[in-house]
Amino acid sequence: MGDLRFTSKGLSYEVDISSQRTMVPVYDFPQKTSPCRVGCPAGHDIAWALYLVRQGEFGAALALFREESPFPSITGRVCYYPCEAVCNRGEHDEALAINMLERALADHGTIPAPRPLASHAEHIAVVGSGPAGLTAAYHLAWLGYRVTVYEKEQEIGGVLRYGIPDYRLPRQVVRDVEAMLRGMGVAFRTGAAVGPELPFKTLLAEHDALFLGVGLSEARALTLKGIEAVSSMPGIEFLYRAKEGRVRSIEGHVLVIGAGDVALDVARSAKRLGADKVSIYYRVHLRAHPEELREAARERISIDGGWEPVRLAPQKDGGVVVRMQGVDHLVEGRAVHNERQTEVRCDHIIYAVGQRANASFLPPELLSNGGLAVNALGQTAHPKVFAGGDITGSYNVVEAIGGAKRAVIGIDSLLRGRDGAALLARVSLGESRPGESPPVSLRSYRQLLGGEAAPLVRQSVPYAAINADYFPPQERVGRPHLGLDERRGLCDEVNLEVPREVAIREASRCFHCGECTVCGNCFIYCPDSAVLQGEDGFFSINGMQCKGCGQCVAECPRSAMSMVPEGDAVAVA
Ligand SMILES: Cc1cc2nc3c(=O)[nH]c(=O)nc-3n(C[C@H](O)[C@H](O)[C@H](O)COP(=O)(O)OP(=O)(O)OC[C@H]3O[C@@H](n4cnc5c(N)ncnc54)[C@H](O)[C@@H]3O)c2cc1C
Ligand code: SF4
Ligand code: SF4
Repeated sequence: MGDLRFTSKGLSYEVDISSQRTMVPVYDFPQKTSPCRVGCPAGHDIAWALYLVRQGEFGAALALFREESPFPSITGRVCYYPCEAVCNRGEHDEALAINMLERALADHGTIPAPRPLASHAEHIAVVGSGPAGLTAAYHLAWLGYRVTVYEKEQEIGGVLRYGIPDYRLPRQVVRDVEAMLRGMGVAFRTGAAVGPELPFKTLLAEHDALFLGVGLSEARALTLKGIEAVSSMPGIEFLYRAKEGRVRSIEGHVLVIGAGDVALDVARSAKRLGADKVSIYYRVHLRAHPEELREAARERISIDGGWEPVRLAPQKDGGVVVRMQGVDHLVEGRAVHNERQTEVRCDHIIYAVGQRANASFLPPELLSNGGLAVNALGQTAHPKVFAGGDITGSYNVVEAIGGAKRAVIGIDSLLRGRDGAALLARVSLGESRPGESPPVSLRSYRQLLGGEAAPLVRQSVPYAAINADYFPPQERVGRPHLGLDERRGLCDEVNLEVPREVAIREASRCFHCGECTVCGNCFIYCPDSAVLQGEDGFFSINGMQCKGCGQCVAECPRSAMSMVPEGDAVAVA
């Protein structure tokens, strides 16, 4: 950054011309952020990371992502990328392929695990090792706490390990995250279900705080008479067994009921396990991610909406005929039928109609509607008990990360006697909206604790503030995929590694909204040589020389500067 030097033409005035202005330019980029960052529940500093990728600095970009989350290698594969939906470039031509670039920086960057910042005596129990539990363990260990993760399964990862198929997320990627956390001093107790043999009360008594990330591990039943008498199974059980190698093949026609993530994973897994035909039937809402739907269609899985199974007729050959009734719409979750009817003959029914928590091990006073109600700091009704992830109402991996990060601030504040709410407000990203929890930056949090003046990042930069003239149209680079003919087994990863040069090309499309990349436009276009460059490479305004024409702000490609009324400049700078 300090390498880019601009040579001054010398001062054009020797008198103080500041009295001519009413507005003054300021470099307010530390108080701005990109919309993609606010749109990422993990709060990743995408704008700057993509600048680093563009320079080929994959390790530095990975380090920046790891400031906020332990596993860009995982979210770079399975996140539904809400960040891309709000990318400013989407209003220009096409949004940046942020998720693909996250995968690229995880593939090509290598950095050591963070070293704990302190050595606190307090011991924290994390229950559940899904994305919420792993995120909490990582950040708590980084802050210097002793952390033990209690996991009922034999391996860690939750849905990442036992739900999402290997062709989307190879299990080795999860094992690598576990190795990193062990290297940071996190202890894992697997095969340790909190319940009758390891009571919640004991855990509470033996630890200074608890983080619960126990997810939604029970499948909702399909209420259909006779379902238990035919070949049928809940989707999460089918995926679990397939991951464990306990379902090695499946024959005939597989009928999948439901149209969320689980249904799509079931259907695509069944295809890979040898099913002759796979059909998905759903009622009204196609909730699965568009990318999943696209890939399922390419893999010749049929998807048909507006149906509900109402009757089963088992056949002598072991198959079953399913009577479907047309669905118009839903009222309070119940289908309102229409006249349409059809019959589907199949060999197996796998249903994915929702999940719920198994919270029987928790004291009833903590529960609310079968889940855990938490405040903005992830704290439950018990002051020592915090929670995050699906059990608190999040729906995907990146939301689980975001919730766990807020709880880490809550736990640290409780144990160190800090004002958690005030700290949370200082490290929240983007404008707060009533009822919504904005993403938080734990990098800023650690900076604050370390005595650095962590930037207050509030305002996200809209497309209207970007100088679009500097960005000619450039096609978005597509993600490399495994060919259809090569998608044979459950472990053939579909999304391929992104070559470095492809990642660099795509990252070069980024506006780096609200960042100063030291392009020097302000310096070059200032008619009064009022822009100064400091030793660190960054610019400042010579208040005596600036007449407030605003040329520098107009020519800044990415809104790293603003014009503010004279007098406000000190407050902003
Ligand atoms: C099949 C499937 C595919 C999905 N695909 C995606 C996707 O592609 N992208 C995406 O963003 N989201 C996806 N999701 C949603 C996402 O996986 C979840 O939102 C996320 O895993 C929630 O994380 P969590 O940590 O809250 O819970 P989980 O991942 O469910 O982890 C909870 C952990 O707690 C453990 N546990 C539970 N009870 C106890 C106990 N009593 N004692 C000890 N341990 C216990 C469980 O064994 C488990 O390991 C998918 C979900 C499913 C089911
Ligand atoms: S974690 Fe998801 S939302 Fe955040 S940057 Fe990655 S793809 Fe985008
Ligand atoms: S252009 Fe780059 S910085 Fe701006 S919103 Fe899109 S990805 Fe983020």
